[in-house]
Amino acid sequence: MYLDADSSKCTGCRVCLTVCSLYHFKEVNPKKAALAVDAKFPKPGHYEVRVCNQCGTCASVCPVEAISEKSGIYIIDADKCTGCGECVKACPTQVMFLHEDSPVPIKCDLCKECIPLCGTKVLFLKD
Ligand code: SF4
Repeated sequence: MYLDADSSKCTGCRVCLTVCSLYHFKEVNPKKAALAVDAKFPKPGHYEVRVCNQCGTCASVCPVEAISEKSGIYIIDADKCTGCGECVKACPTQVMFLHEDSPVPIKCDLCKECIPLCGTKVLFLKD
C-alpha cells in the first residue's frame, strides 16, 4: 500500500505539506514535508502533486543499508544513516529531502495524516 495523488483535483492550497510538517516536526514548514506540490503555470496550468510510492529505490542505493522495508513502507534507520543524500538524489519522484534540522532525509512513512485533510481528496491509498 502506498500514497497516490490525483493531481487534477489539486487547488495548490498546500495543506498537505502543512499537515506533514506539523505531524512529524511540530511546525508549519513545507520544506519539512515528505511530499511536494509544483505549480505548473501558465502551461499546462495546473498543480502537480508528487508523493512517495514506496518504490524502494532509496533502499537500493543506500551505501550503508540504512533503509529497510517493513509492511511495504521504507523507513530510514537514524542509527545507520550517515546523511550522505544518495537516496535523495536517486528518488524517482524527488520526494526525499535533506534538511539541517533532521538527522536523516525526510521521507514519507505513510502515516496517512495528509489524506483526510486534503479538501479536494487529491491523496489516496493504492494497493
Ligand atoms: S542519506 Fe542515509 S539513508 Fe540516505 S543513502 Fe545516505 S546513508 Fe542511506
